[in-house]
Amino acid sequence: MQAKGYANPSAEKPFAPYSFERKAPGPNEVAIDIAFCGICHSDIHTARSEWGPALYPCVPGHEIVGHVQAVGSKVTKFKAGDKVGVGCMVNSCGTCGSCKENLEQFCEKGFTGTYNSPLPDGDYTKGGYSNHVVVDQGFVLSVPDNLDLAATAPLLCAGITTYSPLRHVGVGKGDKVAILGLGGLGHMGVKIAASFGAEVTVLSRSENKRGDAEKLGANNFVITNNPDEVAKYVGYFDYILDTVSAPHDLGQAMSLLKRQGTLILVGASDKPLEVPAFGLIFGRKKMMGSLIGGIAETQEMLDHCGKHNIVSDIEMIDPEQINEAYERTLKSDVKYRFVIDCKKF
Ligand code: NAP
Ligand code: ZN
Repeated sequence: MQAKGYANPSAEKPFAPYSFERKAPGPNEVAIDIAFCGICHSDIHTARSEWGPALYPCVPGHEIVGHVQAVGSKVTKFKAGDKVGVGCMVNSCGTCGSCKENLEQFCEKGFTGTYNSPLPDGDYTKGGYSNHVVVDQGFVLSVPDNLDLAATAPLLCAGITTYSPLRHVGVGKGDKVAILGLGGLGHMGVKIAASFGAEVTVLSRSENKRGDAEKLGANNFVITNNPDEVAKYVGYFDYILDTVSAPHDLGQAMSLLKRQGTLILVGASDKPLEVPAFGLIFGRKKMMGSLIGGIAETQEMLDHCGKHNIVSDIEMIDPEQINEAYERTLKSDVKYRFVIDCKKF
């Protein structure tokens, strides 16, 4: 069928209306009418070829929620009308060690991204800035009934990207967790770390977010360019979840970790970050990265959010506001995720 969406024709050009073909669902596939799609900073990095040359026209979007329109003959998990989500992946090899351990994000042959991934037939994937998508049932998630659908969209990337590492390291009651950068990922990190029982501190450059931190579930708020505020937290944190989208000072973050504390990097700056050797050496500190989460863990995260009534704080936009939303995201002027009303494409 013809899908309607928005694409940018090259890295320098703005988004504009774009129609393209979506194939009919195969036996194992689910056709989804997209209701809402979040705007992740990764969409911006990709659409502007900041992480390497993208495939154009580029239709980003990997925070997709909507309703099942039709299912293939072998689909057992879903039926027409179900509330569903699709995150950053739409396929993986299914046979490598990582896939067998439900870690499709680390598929040894490379997972197929929801957008900007080459397909065997020479085409490439197009994402959620559109009104319709067809996805293998193994990569479709169930959305808990009690959650607001639009505010659930950002859970499909920002939610799982912060849930997965916090779970992996075993954050729990009594742990002191800092969230560095209060954007889309950061605000979900606050909510999720708080739901695990941690003491949560926001580390931010933006004084105008101070009031929000507490509402989101944080216990403390620190402005990173205020030396007096920062000094109080030297050697304080067990974990710092770094969600910053651009180059920044890792030395400051490391100084705030306890002995043997861990800096968890999820922010994906397009430029390399400098690691100060002494920042790690003194105190035997650790640094790790984390990439979204596997499909089973994404469902676990959605169920956890359903149980704890956790959704994203969103600003709903119409398709023609996508370009403006990109500029505002780059200025950290979003509380805390733009979500596109995809029924208006
Ligand atoms: P976002 O909404 O733009 O938030 C990023 C936040 O970082 C901003 O709100 C700002 O927080 C802070 N920041 C931005 N520029 C900064 C700078 N120059 N110095 C210090 N702080 C700065 O972006 P997002 O959607 O949360 O994504 C964040 C990053 O994670 C992106 O690079 C994205 O590609 C990446 N990502 C990674 C994964 C993964 O699997 N690892 C998944 C999704 C996204 P304050 O205003 O509070 O300072
Ligand atoms: Zn994302």
